Amino acid sequence: MIEINHSKIKETNRKKIIALLLEKSEITKLDISRKLDISITTVSTNITELKNEGIVEDVRSLESTGGRKAIAIKLNESCKYSIGVALTSNHLKISLVNLKKNIIENIRIRHKKDGIENIIGLLIKNIDILMQKYNISSEKLLGIGISLPGTVDFKEGIIKYSYFLGVKEFNLKEKFEYLNIPIYVDNEANLSAYYEFLNRKDKLENLLYVSITDGLGLGIIINGRIYRGDNNSSGELGHIKIAMDGKQCKCGAKGCLEAYTSMNSLIDSYNEDTNSNITDIGEFEEKYNQNDKVAQKILNEYLKVLSLGISNLIMILDPNSIVIGGDINNLLNDKIDILKKNIYKDNLFTDENSCNISIASFKESYLLGAAMMPIEEFLEIK
Ligand SMILES: [Zn+2]
Repeated sequence: MIEINHSKIKETNRKKIIALLLEKSEITKLDISRKLDISITTVSTNITELKNEGIVEDVRSLESTGGRKAIAIKLNESCKYSIGVALTSNHLKISLVNLKKNIIENIRIRHKKDGIENIIGLLIKNIDILMQKYNISSEKLLGIGISLPGTVDFKEGIIKYSYFLGVKEFNLKEKFEYLNIPIYVDNEANLSAYYEFLNRKDKLENLLYVSITDGLGLGIIINGRIYRGDNNSSGELGHIKIAMDGKQCKCGAKGCLEAYTSMNSLIDSYNEDTNSNITDIGEFEEKYNQNDKVAQKILNEYLKVLSLGISNLIMILDPNSIVIGGDINNLLNDKIDILKKNIYKDNLFTDENSCNISIASFKESYLLGAAMMPIEEFLEIK
């Protein structure tokens, strides 16, 4: 029993020291000891261990006020890396991040939509290029987080179903077994929620993230953890029905919220109404910003339906924080007041003061969420 407690304390001290080093550019052992209220002996033991592992290094001698010179230490931020990957219906996005969570390189490739095996081939090739370019061995790579639109079995790393990628019951994790590192496969809304939560975790315990990309998803954080449901299928907000025999959804059913509120729904509605052929949300954005009347009408309708969906969500979960984000941020940035007005119009139970709704500041939170997963796990378990 005592032994367990000892190792627990040791683990906590180590975690605390690494967390402090992540904050500071450099610090002395004495300052670590003072700031964390841990004995200098314990700090020294931990620092020696961390040095042996290559995680911290000496910086230089600081001028000391008489007596011995104090050696400052710092985190060796290039001792460990993490890779975040996002598979979307058109793109492969890769982010290389160091232990300090700084982005070292972003890669964005338009894939040929020629099947999951080919997309994985492209991914493996690019991971290999990155690892060689920055001289990263498997030992230095903490893991790879992979975001995708669809349901996943997080524990097993299996894609249960993703109609955007044309995949059912596909073991993605085993494709990376050759690297012998942790692989995290997760839904993009979950990872976006996770990333936004990490940025607010001092203030919040719960957070909902409405993810608007090719589809519409929901990431749910409860008590600081991603809520996945009993069958890994939580947060399918896009497929709640809002109309009997309504618009056709990509899932096969009719009247799903996603059919009205995904990024694609804006593009499709515009093409139908104007007989044009835009393919990208950027083009829709351009039309809207040029005061195109059709684009404006479509976005206004869109905001109404999106508000309806979010209003229903609030009725069920009564959250105090909702972040809306995804590939559509630029269009929504100055629409938050309209959304709030619509959402709270007929709500007897909640109002603006009890639930804060905001637009995510970063578009591709899912990609960074994917990259953060191996780092957070590393900081947690050690
Ligand atoms: Zn559907």
